[in-house]
Amino acid sequence: MPSLEFAERYSRQVLFTPIGAEGQKRLATARVAIVGCGATGSALASLLARAGVGYLRIIDRDYVEPSNLQRQVLFDECDAAESLPKAIAAARKIQAFNHEVAVEPHAADLTPQCAEELLAGVDLLLDGTDNFETRYLINDFAVSRQLPWVYAAAVASYAVTMTIIPGEMACLACIFPDSPRGLVETCDTSGILNSAVNLIASIASAEALKLLVGARDKVRRTLLSYDVWANDFVEISTAKPRAGCRACDLRDFVHLAGEGRPHITLCGRNSVQIHERHSPIDFEEVTRRLSPLGPVRHNEFVLKFWRDPYELTLFPDGRAIIKGTTDTAVARSLYARYVGS
Ligand SMILES: [Zn+2]
Repeated sequence: MPSLEFAERYSRQVLFTPIGAEGQKRLATARVAIVGCGATGSALASLLARAGVGYLRIIDRDYVEPSNLQRQVLFDECDAAESLPKAIAAARKIQAFNHEVAVEPHAADLTPQCAEELLAGVDLLLDGTDNFETRYLINDFAVSRQLPWVYAAAVASYAVTMTIIPGEMACLACIFPDSPRGLVETCDTSGILNSAVNLIASIASAEALKLLVGARDKVRRTLLSYDVWANDFVEISTAKPRAGCRACDLRDFVHLAGEGRPHITLCGRNSVQIHERHSPIDFEEVTRRLSPLGPVRHNEFVLKFWRDPYELTLFPDGRAIIKGTTDTAVARSLYARYVGS
């Protein structure tokens, strides 16, 4: 028997017949991983935690900044002032409004090397990322394990989503064998409306609920795009896998194999991420060493160091984001100088 608190909390959702008491129980035991916790990931995590999904794994490599607050609904001004990793800030916020949800935050970059560790053991993967490289990696992992996932993306006033049940319908690589050109623009270059994000996150989270309660016949079998400013609405059928698809037909998982993946990734906002070194960093020691050179501060999760015109954000595993340059050679040399090699 569910507790009284459980019954009361989800009473309005249980009244919705396609979910009902049985569906609500299924949600309580469901396990979901959300990759990327920016605008889309925040909205997805918030909706699913409030809906009573029992376990959420939140994976994000970034930290909260003031420019995020316009659309990233799980964060507040204190999170930005502390530069908290988004995964940590999201977990704290979720615990405050639904302590029954088990949240597992990972302040980490999803790479082929750690895909198994970060994505295994869940029923569903959700896309909250901002880049096609990671989406192809999610697609390869999901198709190789027959795991459903939901693609979601938003930029400017425009948003796109697609639900993927491997084997039953088209996968991401069926529809986009290569990164689509139109979506290469990012929210850092074209801006973004929070309404476009929340629209697509709402649609994707409804798809997630259908999959988690077993209503597969209700899953949308189209790639849906919607422009909230131009009022354009387009759907393309994804009902059948494409013969010859690299991922779901030929089962050639190049992105999961990680061939040729560079160690340095551009974050797309005048920043370079360095994650070549995988050894723990002693924040106290780095603080002592850097404080004669410029302002330094750290908490349990991040260390920040300012050396005009650069800003270095260091994570405990040695990963860093260097702001103020898009030149990987400059970022590498700053890292070697201030952190070590
Ligand atoms: Zn495919």
